[in-house]
Amino acid sequence: MSLRAKVWEYFILFTAAVLVMLWFFQIVSVGNFYENMKIKDVKNAAHEIIENCTNEGFSTSLTKLAISNDMCIDIVDKYGRVMYTKDILGKSCLIHSPKSNTNDFLYKFKSNDTKEMYYKEFNDFTNCNMLIYMSVIGTKESPQGYIIINSPLVPIDATAAIFKKQLIIISAFLLILSLVVSYFMAKKIAEPIAKLTKSAEQMAAGNYDIQFDAKGYAEIQRLSNTLTFAGKQISKVDTMQRDLIANVSHDLRTPLTMLKAYAEMIRDLSGDNPAKRNEHLEIIINETDRLALLVSDMLDLSKLERGDQKLNYSEFNIKELLEDITARYKGLSDKQEYDITFEADEDVIVNCDVIKIQQVIYNLINNAVNYTGDDKKVIVRQINRQNDVRIEVSDTGEGISSDKIKLIFEKYYRSENHKREVVGTGLGLSIVKAILKKHGYNFGVFSKLGEGSTFWFEIRDLKTNEEPPQLPEKPPKRYFGKKNENKNNQ
Ligand code: ADP
Repeated sequence: MSLRAKVWEYFILFTAAVLVMLWFFQIVSVGNFYENMKIKDVKNAAHEIIENCTNEGFSTSLTKLAISNDMCIDIVDKYGRVMYTKDILGKSCLIHSPKSNTNDFLYKFKSNDTKEMYYKEFNDFTNCNMLIYMSVIGTKESPQGYIIINSPLVPIDATAAIFKKQLIIISAFLLILSLVVSYFMAKKIAEPIAKLTKSAEQMAAGNYDIQFDAKGYAEIQRLSNTLTFAGKQISKVDTMQRDLIANVSHDLRTPLTMLKAYAEMIRDLSGDNPAKRNEHLEIIINETDRLALLVSDMLDLSKLERGDQKLNYSEFNIKELLEDITARYKGLSDKQEYDITFEADEDVIVNCDVIKIQQVIYNLINNAVNYTGDDKKVIVRQINRQNDVRIEVSDTGEGISSDKIKLIFEKYYRSENHKREVVGTGLGLSIVKAILKKHGYNFGVFSKLGEGSTFWFEIRDLKTNEEPPQLPEKPPKRYFGKKNENKNNQ
């Protein structure tokens, strides 16, 4: 069912409900309603009389009461003697009609043995019902007097008939009005939705930059803005996905082409020449390692970016961790004469995910080693500060220009114009960024062209005066060194 039809249906139902209520109150129950009102009026008048009967000027107020309520009233003492009588109905009053008198009613009331009573009686003279009300003044056991009230129940059939005619006109008018209003309302509600649907269809067809501009009411405007935002986000993800696929396929294709080419060379040319064959096999091994590195980096990053990976917080001595890592690098780099120094302040216990922070340090030192200058110097610093520990990894390489600094933490960004050709995937710093962001730590880089770069981050979660726990054993994951130098691999 379309929205228009639904709105129309609800509107008609609502109008029908209103009409049913109107008909019920105006036609069906109007008689009962009138009678109940009359009884209430008479009772109120009786209470007023009881309250004021000792007041001065009571007779005048009784007359006013009788006139304003269209009643004839008799007040008698406990012996049945009439004290006051107000007859504004004349012959139509049953109390004073030729057929009955005050005492007849009093007798009826006394024989009923109640404090008050009322009933309807048909009046032949006026041809309509009369409401007779009687009540004791004082208590039932020791009455001081009695009130007898007589008030006509005017037949309301004629009035009801007028109402009925009016209601027929009102009903017809209301139905037509509801049809017209519901038509315009449905139009007002449905039009922006139809507009949104059109734009959404375009978005589904791949046009993510579409602007949703349905207006009319707050909800639709909010939906419009949300969809425009969603479109932009999807567009970003789409571009990222395309870039990712392009980068990944490019990165995978290069080593695969190399693998194929060198395997063919061994088969066709160098198979019988052990020196050449080994050289080619070496390249095949290097390229395989590169592929493995790329795949493992991609997995690491996607796990981090998925967001469902929890950090495994533990307390450890950061100085010990840094010493441990730099010692490993020293062992590895001795053959290549790398000069890795570690400058540290005192021991400090931090509370973070040790495996992940270890990966950050490895990635930064790997890069420093890979991109440092000809003096092959790398300095790792641990600087204790009041609220955090700052870790710095500096090199003496060619540095990074300010326009590239913004890009280096992006996924798959690699600057190829370095002096040495370096093994890498362009994911190392993205992993660093993801880990540090997950921890909520500040990080950054400052670099001067021709002088080198310093990458830094600050661990805020400090713990002091506690026994440092044992560090977990984890070998460095990434490579460093020149391309095709298999021996540097870890
Ligand atoms: P990879 O090192 O695998 O290429 P990274 O994400 O670790 O990927 O680094 C991205 C880019 O940032 C590198 O290609 C390089 O151009 C630049 N870079 C990273 N570290 C340094 C550094 N210490 N000195 C100069 N350039 C660097």
